Amino acid sequence: MENKFFEDIRSDFPILNERVYNKPLVYFDNGATTQKPRCVVEKIDYAYYHLNANIHRGVHFLSQQATLAHEDARKSVAEFLGSNKSEEIIFTRGTTEAINLVATSFGEAFCKSGDEIVVSVMEHHSNIVPWQMLCERKGMKLRVIPMTEAGDLDMDVYKSLLNERTRIVSVMHVSNVLGTINDVAEIIRIAHEKDIPVLIDGAQAVPHIPVAVVKLDADFYVFSGHKIYGPTGIGALYGKEKWLNAMPPYQGGGEMIASVSFEKTTYNELPFKFEAGTPDYIGSTALAEALRYVSEIGLDKIAKYEHDLTTYATERLNEIDGLKLFGTSSDKSAVISFLVGKIHPYDIGMLLDKLGIAVRTGHHCAQPLIDSLGIPGTVRASFSFYNTKAEIDVFVEALKRVVMMLS
Ligand code: PMP
Repeated sequence: MENKFFEDIRSDFPILNERVYNKPLVYFDNGATTQKPRCVVEKIDYAYYHLNANIHRGVHFLSQQATLAHEDARKSVAEFLGSNKSEEIIFTRGTTEAINLVATSFGEAFCKSGDEIVVSVMEHHSNIVPWQMLCERKGMKLRVIPMTEAGDLDMDVYKSLLNERTRIVSVMHVSNVLGTINDVAEIIRIAHEKDIPVLIDGAQAVPHIPVAVVKLDADFYVFSGHKIYGPTGIGALYGKEKWLNAMPPYQGGGEMIASVSFEKTTYNELPFKFEAGTPDYIGSTALAEALRYVSEIGLDKIAKYEHDLTTYATERLNEIDGLKLFGTSSDKSAVISFLVGKIHPYDIGMLLDKLGIAVRTGHHCAQPLIDSLGIPGTVRASFSFYNTKAEIDVFVEALKRVVMMLS
């Protein structure tokens, strides 16, 4: 029943019918970006054909319609994240820009020499480098939460890292390499006991599990539209009003001001203070459509189906001699990272590609994590609800062939 529902859903994604090297495409690179349902692509067309005019302050009809669509999209994002204050949603280019915004503006307002930032060993580069840059600018220190063999964060060490110098904790909700679903509610609760705010990188969480930022009590929560079936170039930052109001603007320009003179400029209110320049109102409109699409299916249903797929894939992969999985947490999302014997991950990825199977190989923008594991990288298969057990069978049989060729 469930399987039939998700098999039928494939027809919403025309790209899944593509052939590569004359083989049916098996797309297992959803952690990098997801494919787009027809309704999202059509929404982009529709917005350009019927709603295109620069937004905010336009007196004419089209501008008002485009403004309405953009601001409705902001409400959709707020609602999707379980917040009822759309002014707490800032549109950004994606997760990376959202973290850079917080690292820069929060850093400017609240950080000084000698302070510390806590991140984890499994972070994506986009949740490491902006903080490192802040540390360099201000003379601060980055402290790192280690993990266990299974790929769970070591909560005892985490607690011991927090002190009166800690200005912010910034960790990922779901690991893009290990699939671990971190206990972010507990991470936030522990930090809040010491009045330390927490940023959660939700890039790999929101497409796969239900998220409610207000319930989590996250201070900042960020994600990218393209990983949740929306367009590239748009994402969002949720931030508690009390922080956003106290932070200076990230970029200067049009839209983010209340008034400008050469003597003094005053800034606009939230959320516009953080959205300098013409925003991607076509992208936001299409992102709202993607969120509507995903919500209509239901994230509980998606999480359950993808969990079954991941369990099935794990069982089947374990048939392969010498295969080692990285990330065996009991609470895992739809990501499987592995190596086989001493075979280089790149060689496996190259040969799988020739068989029509798209996986990702390498450090997955998490070099410190890969280094800590003492490996050159992994092969990563990451699933979506449009993937099937039949595709996993094709993948496992192909992998067996590839391993035979390379051993
Ligand atoms: N964080 C995580 C956990 C990710 O997986 C990614 C993308 N791979 C990013 C951040 C960066 O996202 P983007 O490139 O869309 O800004």
